[in-house]
Amino acid sequence: MKTTADIRHDFLEFFAERGHTIVPSAPLVPGNDPTLLFTNSGMVQFKDVFLGAEKRSYVRAADVQRCLRAGGKHNDLDSVGYTARHHTFFEMLGNWSFGDYFKEDAIKWAWQLLTETWKLRKERLLATVYHTDDESFAIWRDVIGLSEDRIIRIGDNKGAPFASDNFWQMADTGPCGPCTEIFYDHGEKYAGGPPGSPDEDGDRYIEIWNNVFMQFDRAADGTLTPLPAPCVDTGMGLERITAILQGVHSNYEIDLFQALIKHAAELTGTADLDNKSLRVIADHIRASSFLIADGVLPSNEGRGYVLRRIIRRALRHGWMLGVRQPFFYKLVSTLDALMGDAYPILRDSRATVERALKAEEERFAETLDSGMRIFNDVADRAKDTIPGADAFRLYDTYGFPLDLTQDMARERGMSVDTVGFDAAMQQQKETARAAGKFGGGLALPAELIAQLAPTQFLGYDELASDGLKIIA
Ligand code: ATP
Ligand code: MG
Ligand code: MG
Ligand code: MG
Repeated sequence: MKTTADIRHDFLEFFAERGHTIVPSAPLVPGNDPTLLFTNSGMVQFKDVFLGAEKRSYVRAADVQRCLRAGGKHNDLDSVGYTARHHTFFEMLGNWSFGDYFKEDAIKWAWQLLTETWKLRKERLLATVYHTDDESFAIWRDVIGLSEDRIIRIGDNKGAPFASDNFWQMADTGPCGPCTEIFYDHGEKYAGGPPGSPDEDGDRYIEIWNNVFMQFDRAADGTLTPLPAPCVDTGMGLERITAILQGVHSNYEIDLFQALIKHAAELTGTADLDNKSLRVIADHIRASSFLIADGVLPSNEGRGYVLRRIIRRALRHGWMLGVRQPFFYKLVSTLDALMGDAYPILRDSRATVERALKAEEERFAETLDSGMRIFNDVADRAKDTIPGADAFRLYDTYGFPLDLTQDMARERGMSVDTVGFDAAMQQQKETARAAGKFGGGLALPAELIAQLAPTQFLGYDELASDGLKIIA
């Protein structure tokens, strides 16, 4: 059986043999884009190359990019534990043409790698194209020989979270173009329809590879001008293709995840390896460890707060499995053994990662147990909505981020009154401001007073440079 590591290697070798320069993964914190929270696809590090602002010494590249889709525009955090195919942290295999080859080579190579090198069964594969992209349609039909009923035309996604969208754009203006995506049919025992159908958000037809063809420049008034040198940008989820090649359905069944899940099962004394909490913990240890390795530390705002939210979600799952001692940080050794060769930065920062995770576990341990008891009481009493004031108390006094409370509510088929939560937050800020004016005659900033208030749990954090800021 091919391991995840073998598949990473196969991909790079295949494209190196076709003249691609192998480029290292960029960090999760983008170096060239302050507007982007995290690197969420392979193209992020090449953005300026596509915009023409940066030149590279090569016109073909391939890599394995570590990606994070939590917080920000792409947020798959709430899918973790619910679908077979979404992670917060995942690896994206990508190949690029910077004004060199275009649609035909990209599609041909993708097909060759999947069906010749990896020998996927052709009758399991489908392709989508943008509804007006007759060129890609013709390549699939005439060059590849895919039957027309397996080539699905897809329009623009009008906002449904998981609906297919086969037109890609970097921003409101600039490079853009149609995509063609390759899907794998895991078979009728799984629920879900083909791409473009009303029930496409299922785990039967799983999207494995997106090929984007940047061929236009969009102006502010919406007009599209053909780019002089069109580019190719592709991304394939390593965990998804590995699942197929290992003959399993869910990403969590692949070798890499199974090793993490087994270790988490030992640490938490859990017998059932299919337990959802183990999957969430296995997902979150990757996201948390790589974020810390890339220089993010738990804090109360920005990237650090996304990290804190991910860690606390994992710790809550540990709590549900009966754990009352720090355990999460112990998974770093297994993660290092699995991924440290491919990502030396993880190996080099292992001690820092363990220390930061353990500190966060100890900090949250002070309030997790009481917070859980309060939540359970409130939820037992509430009908279908957790009152905003209770969610705010959990947040403010017990360090439960709002999305953690929402996640717990969702498990009980309930929701959280977020309007009430915001109102409680606002009221606390005003009370703090008034207290400041009244007490010292000096109008201290509300944020500062809020931090000094005795009930403010999310306060000083010796690990985070910005730990003193209250969550906006
Ligand atoms: P999906 O529709 O399944 O959410 P996507 O269309 O959002 O995927 P792309 O932005 O096209 O994904 O990214 C390229 C590839 O990266 C996908 O085809 C998939 O294989 C992989 N991928 C995307 N999101 C995730 C995720 N959260 N976890 C694991 N792999 C992912
Ligand atoms: Mg998605
Ligand atoms: Mg998609
Ligand atoms: Mg896609």
